[in-house]
Amino acid sequence: MRLLAGAATDVGMVREGNEDGFLIDDRLQLFAVADGMGGHQAGEVASATALEALRASVATGTGLEQAVTAANAAVFEKASADEALRGMGTTLTTLSIDPAGAELVIGHVGDSRAYLVRDGDLRQITEDHSLVEELVREGRLTPEQADVHPQRSIITRALGIDAAVSVDLVPVEIRAGDRILLCSDGLTTMLRPSDIATILRREPDPGRAADLLVDAANAAGGEDNITALVVEVEDDGLAGITGAHVAGAAASPPPAPPADVEAPAARRPRRRRGRGRTIGRVVLWTLPVLIIFGIAFGAVGWYARHGYYLQFADNHVVLFKGVEGGLLGWNPTRAETTGITRTQLEKLQFAAAIDAIDTTKTFGSRADADAYLRRLRRGIDIAEHPTTTTIPTTTTAPTTTVPGATATTTVPTTPPSGP
Ligand code: MN
Repeated sequence: MRLLAGAATDVGMVREGNEDGFLIDDRLQLFAVADGMGGHQAGEVASATALEALRASVATGTGLEQAVTAANAAVFEKASADEALRGMGTTLTTLSIDPAGAELVIGHVGDSRAYLVRDGDLRQITEDHSLVEELVREGRLTPEQADVHPQRSIITRALGIDAAVSVDLVPVEIRAGDRILLCSDGLTTMLRPSDIATILRREPDPGRAADLLVDAANAAGGEDNITALVVEVEDDGLAGITGAHVAGAAASPPPAPPADVEAPAARRPRRRRGRGRTIGRVVLWTLPVLIIFGIAFGAVGWYARHGYYLQFADNHVVLFKGVEGGLLGWNPTRAETTGITRTQLEKLQFAAAIDAIDTTKTFGSRADADAYLRRLRRGIDIAEHPTTTTIPTTTTAPTTTVPGATATTTVPTTPPSGP
């Protein structure tokens, strides 16, 4: 099996710099997309560092999971060593051939995605490590609400944040005619899966398909950096004859360029097609965008009324209801002054909690906020009274066997008393 890939990356229509990056190494048969984050170009350093460390590690024969772990260490060390790079991180979604040779394997951390494209349909292979995905898994948000959630870009796992990282490894059995799409969230937040599938169905060349995907995301607003990497099994007499490729080439003419809202054509010159088709594309891209805005308005309103967040106010940790700064006329209200102070957290060196609250710790519901505060209070209690406090967890009661009786009686649980 041999894989072929094409990719495109673009800064988008809104951002100043491109913190995304991709890797195509034909010799190693290694492919990856990384979406960096961090101020002042640190995000670019993070994604580039991760990709290079991944490549170097795989080049020495390391397995994919270990190689992603090595990439994490490289970013983490660089971030720790340089004040200007502190706090940088990156997603990494990478594809390689399993050493056994029979299947592909994906290594994944963060909210970039891998899709399997089979028979013209898109199936998401990876799970987003993001706040909204966790809320969806917990049943607190619908997938539709998650798509337009104002905090959908908050990720819960990334490379470079901690010395250790948990890597998702996903084996993928590939068939002739299948493709794999690796992409950053700048693509998936701008385009629906069906739009992505349509483009991939129509364009047989992986590199041109990647270009068209990036252009379509720009045409839909390009609110973030956009990266698309399309991988396919090399045509060995099987791949390419089946399914999507022939259907795409035979059934429909090559796609018209998307609406050139700004000037992507200037960056990537290509053939222009007839005016009629261009208008068709405009309608095709505008309608979903209008629908998305409609849903977004509803979701934002819902969030503005149901969300909670923690912030420091005059040294105190305060729980607010609503969205920081207010949204669409809904202003946040003070729900609880917790009695916990910054001074107290600093004294206990609760750096993670301070960081989280400094950057506005948010919750989907009051119950979530209360659960967090309970954990925090318990942590404080244990830290302040390390020797005298009994951790109030479930205590197994002793079992007593009554002489002569046949059954074992369980004594009811009583709260633990002091030592
Ligand atoms: Mn992004």
